[in-house]
Amino acid sequence: MRQTMTLLPGSFKYRLTLILAVLALSVGLPGYLYISHTYVRALVQDQGNYLHGMATTTANALSENLRERLRDLNLLSQTALFRTATFSDPELTATINRIQQAYPHYSWIGFTDTQGTVRAATGNLLLNVDVSQRPWYRRGLSGSTVGDLHTALLLAKLLPAQDASAGPIRFIDFSMPVRDAAGQVRGVLGAHAHWRWATEVVSATTPASALANGVEFFIINRERQIIYPEQPPEGIQVPDALATGAKFGLHNWGTTEPYMYAQVAVRELAQAQTLGWQVLVRQPAAVAMAPVKTLENAVLVGALAMAVILLCMGYWIARHFGQPLEQLAERARQIQHGNESLEWNIEGRSTEVRRLVDALRGMVSTLMQRGQALEQANAVLEQKVQERTKALEQANAALTSQARRDALTGLGNRLACMERLHDEFVRLRRTGVAYSVVMLDIDHFKRVNDTWGHATGDRVLRAVAHTLAASVREADFVGRFGGEEFLAVFPATTLDQALQVADKIRLAVQALPLQDVGSVTLSVGVALAHADDTNKEFAVAQADAALYRAKENGRNRVLA
Ligand code: GH3
Ligand code: MG
Ligand code: MG
Repeated sequence: MRQTMTLLPGSFKYRLTLILAVLALSVGLPGYLYISHTYVRALVQDQGNYLHGMATTTANALSENLRERLRDLNLLSQTALFRTATFSDPELTATINRIQQAYPHYSWIGFTDTQGTVRAATGNLLLNVDVSQRPWYRRGLSGSTVGDLHTALLLAKLLPAQDASAGPIRFIDFSMPVRDAAGQVRGVLGAHAHWRWATEVVSATTPASALANGVEFFIINRERQIIYPEQPPEGIQVPDALATGAKFGLHNWGTTEPYMYAQVAVRELAQAQTLGWQVLVRQPAAVAMAPVKTLENAVLVGALAMAVILLCMGYWIARHFGQPLEQLAERARQIQHGNESLEWNIEGRSTEVRRLVDALRGMVSTLMQRGQALEQANAVLEQKVQERTKALEQANAALTSQARRDALTGLGNRLACMERLHDEFVRLRRTGVAYSVVMLDIDHFKRVNDTWGHATGDRVLRAVAHTLAASVREADFVGRFGGEEFLAVFPATTLDQALQVADKIRLAVQALPLQDVGSVTLSVGVALAHADDTNKEFAVAQADAALYRAKENGRNRVLA
């Protein structure tokens, strides 16, 4: 009880709040974190897929564009014109001029003979020039090829000047053989496309929103050198190839900031040679992960809000259940300190608490009723005990006095006589003050009985006893020693004084008128007790002897 009392008030509510909050958090938080973790992963995956998607689109567009260029040449090579016409036919130049006009990124298209001499060319550029050592010509003899990016100084000089800041003009080559009707190679068709077409392809496939969000595109060659953009940022480092199956990764690209990036290979088209190009799309991780950060922040705010809500709920529940319990504990404390007139206006907000309050109230009232009943029973019992004790004391006193009283005469009996003698003897021994012992015997009493009957004898005994009692002082003692014999004790009395009193008594008895009998006389023996007497009986025996002598000497007299 005491322990409950010290635990309950005040802290109970807060501990209950804390327990509930911890409970709710320990159940809710892992779930909340798991969900947020899943969402964060999905968001990262989405962002990676987004970059990968853009890289794929661009790679496809590049590949498609390359295919178109090869198709242009392929269509040309299969025309009757190119298969059969003489190299001097002006229609050849007219046709490739038309092709160039149809696709402005063609810087140059030319047709060589099997010696490597240019026999027809757009704008007649490089006409009759020997290109037999050029890679595109040599590759073109054996099949359709796409040549990697290169600078063509000779051609560049012949072409209209371009912005010097853009660096040297770079071209991408397409070439393929042209066969005559017999299937024999009669020449090579070659085309140089200006590298700006890459910019066009990339920008055509790039959503404006991507650029606004810091998305950058790169094309790298087989050696993982950047070929697009033409002037990549200083010190840039192309990350190593992603692991197989990975669509995106994180790398700092030689900077201090991490980037999220995706990499997609450009599909190969040419028969003779592969390009090994890859499209890389990167975005600063800070931007790419912004939605993730936003989500994480939202999750954090949500978690905090949830914690606050749980705490509030916990506090509310604790108040709901804790307050009545605290009130109950306070009542219990008051009952413990004896305050029984309690108010039971406890607001139990739940059925259980209300039942508890009712049960406690009932219990307390029952206990108090029992306590009161017990107190009353105790009081009654105590009174009865007092009464009984008093009655017992009275009975005891009555018994004591009865045991020392002679029933016939009302005087002290033989026991009372002996006790008084004992007391006087003890006092004599202590103080040295002598006392007198007087023995008195009715003369010829047998005759009274014999003559007037026993009842008259009794009456005479009572009358004599009454006279004896009335004749002595208060400090003196008179008792019935036995039969018609009486004993008197006179404290602090000399023998002479005792003799005088004894004689006075003898005369008083003699003068006592008795119905029928007339009168009776007494013979009296007196003795003085001394401190050196052997015992208390010694003086009695002396008085008795004196009484005997009085009888001997004619009765109705007092002797010592
Ligand atoms: P003495 O002068 O020599 O004393 O003669 P006595 O007759 O008085 O003495 P005794 O001893 O011969 O007789 C005493 C008588 O007292 C005998 C007895 O019957 C009688 N007596 C003793 N006690 C009682 C009593 O309580 N009532 C009555 N009525 N008589 C008693
Ligand atoms: Mg006698
Ligand atoms: Mg006698």
